[in-house]
Amino acid sequence: MAREKIISKESTGPEDEKFNTALRPTRLEECIGMGDLLEKLRISIQAARKRDEPMEHVLLHGPPGLGKTTLAYVIAHEMGTNIRVTSGPALTRPGDLIGILTNLERRDVLFIDEIHRLSPAVEEYIYPAMEDYKVDFVVDSGMHSRTINLPLKPFTLIGATTRAGLLSPPLRTRFGITHHLEFWSVEDLLHRCRMSATMLGLEYEPKALAALAGRARGTPRIANRLLRRCRDYAQVRGDGRLTVESVEQALKLEKIDHLGLDELDRRFLRVIIDTYKGGPVGIETVAATLGEETDTLVDVVEPFLLQCGLLARTRRGRLATVKAYEHLKITYVPRAADDANLFDAAAGEE
Ligand code: ADP
Repeated sequence: MAREKIISKESTGPEDEKFNTALRPTRLEECIGMGDLLEKLRISIQAARKRDEPMEHVLLHGPPGLGKTTLAYVIAHEMGTNIRVTSGPALTRPGDLIGILTNLERRDVLFIDEIHRLSPAVEEYIYPAMEDYKVDFVVDSGMHSRTINLPLKPFTLIGATTRAGLLSPPLRTRFGITHHLEFWSVEDLLHRCRMSATMLGLEYEPKALAALAGRARGTPRIANRLLRRCRDYAQVRGDGRLTVESVEQALKLEKIDHLGLDELDRRFLRVIIDTYKGGPVGIETVAATLGEETDTLVDVVEPFLLQCGLLARTRRGRLATVKAYEHLKITYVPRAADDANLFDAAAGEE
């Protein structure tokens, strides 16, 4: 499916991962956008370095592809330390985490992606590690059992999540810096596209990159992947130079429309409109009808549709907005659901 290829967190092969890694900035001053976060990090890093301490623990949340992993690498680079990368689902047993923690050097960065998916048994060991740089664990059982107290070298934990709401409050409160990453502006994406094109030695018409940036769903990872598709297209069908025409054609082939929506976005809206009369409908029902994972829809599809005002989230379920009908060129028929109560409920999340 187009979405899996374009947006998925998992790399779609070694070539893709190489590309993603190659285009990551390594220093703070090379980073684009991110509101006041970069300044906050700059101050925090400088202060930590002056005191010869690790940086505060950082929690980054927001949709995939906006720069959480990149920032973790940048922070480690700026701190002049190593980074160890893992993820919530990869840490299945407490021993997995303890093994990593005890191998960290002073001021190292530990990056845990999808931290909301840590099992409670593992999470328990994170608290004293974050707070007091130690782990306590029990060996043997019954009358031979004893607690071993292991001191750790002071480190920085950087947690990334697409669902801050699923993080347990004790974990959430142990982060010194918490930041929500927003979708990027078209200007920032354009800046990113120019940077990537230069790094790849690509020739381009300025308007071609603007067309691409405007369709990247506010996501630098998508901007980079689309750039790669457009580069391939221009090399095969043209002389290698990115033109407005070649970008338009390449994106058409990817079935990406003028808002940047792909087939899965449109199928999602269409199911709500056609099958469920515009909603409200529960997300699990939509996922079952589409044959997609609920998590994919919630993490990857919905945030951008909500941001574009094509979707509303109410306590009674998801609702396609009038703008969604217009975008899909479907005639809007006012529905029973359009009463004030339902839209009031949109203020609170499901
Ligand atoms: P996430 O971990 O949130 O899924 P990544 O860190 O993998 O996202 O970012 C995806 C791509 O976006 C990176 O490969 C990089 O090219 C680009 N990117 C992310 N953040 C920045 C930034 N601050 N400045 C420039 N490029 C960035």
